[in-house]
Amino acid sequence: MLINPSVIYTFAPPKTKEEMAGNITFTMVKPEAVANGNTGAILAQIEAAGFRIVAMKKTQLTAKDAGTFYAVHSERPFYGELVDYMSSGPIVAAILEKDNAVADFRTLIGATDPSEAADGTIRKNFAESKAKNAVHGSDSDENAAIEAGYFFSGLERF
Ligand code: UDP
Ligand code: MG
Repeated sequence: MLINPSVIYTFAPPKTKEEMAGNITFTMVKPEAVANGNTGAILAQIEAAGFRIVAMKKTQLTAKDAGTFYAVHSERPFYGELVDYMSSGPIVAAILEKDNAVADFRTLIGATDPSEAADGTIRKNFAESKAKNAVHGSDSDENAAIEAGYFFSGLERF
């Protein structure tokens, strides 16, 4: 970005796209994990793995919100159930920062189906099923930016 020398900046200027690339991912603790009281344990595992929480909130998605968030899956057979499930109760959404954030977070959460997830992964530890699989993790830098922007403004990131 261009820095205007006549402005006294009292905040760090926003990072450029290049500076941010690869450093953030977006997660949600999904409804069953929140309802089962696993939010704290999951966040503790995320922080212990070296991720910094940049932004976080507890909220509940409407079916419309969940449908928009998962629009990429709208043709898949599980889409209707996914939208119902993701809007069925509160979730905890967060932006996470770490080098190589997207790939490292996918490794930390494990396979979509917890029966296929590696030992010690968040999904192995906390997921109930392939659908109720405890956490979301972005699948690319581009989607991490889109998903983070869907939930959080610049004023909510620290
Ligand atoms: N999902 C499902 N059945 C499937 C595949 C996916 O219910 O056969 C749900 C599950 O909650 C998953 C989400 O849809 O986390 C998104 O699917 P995706 O393939 O993107 O998996 P993820 O990236 O979450 O591992
Ligand atoms: Mg996915």
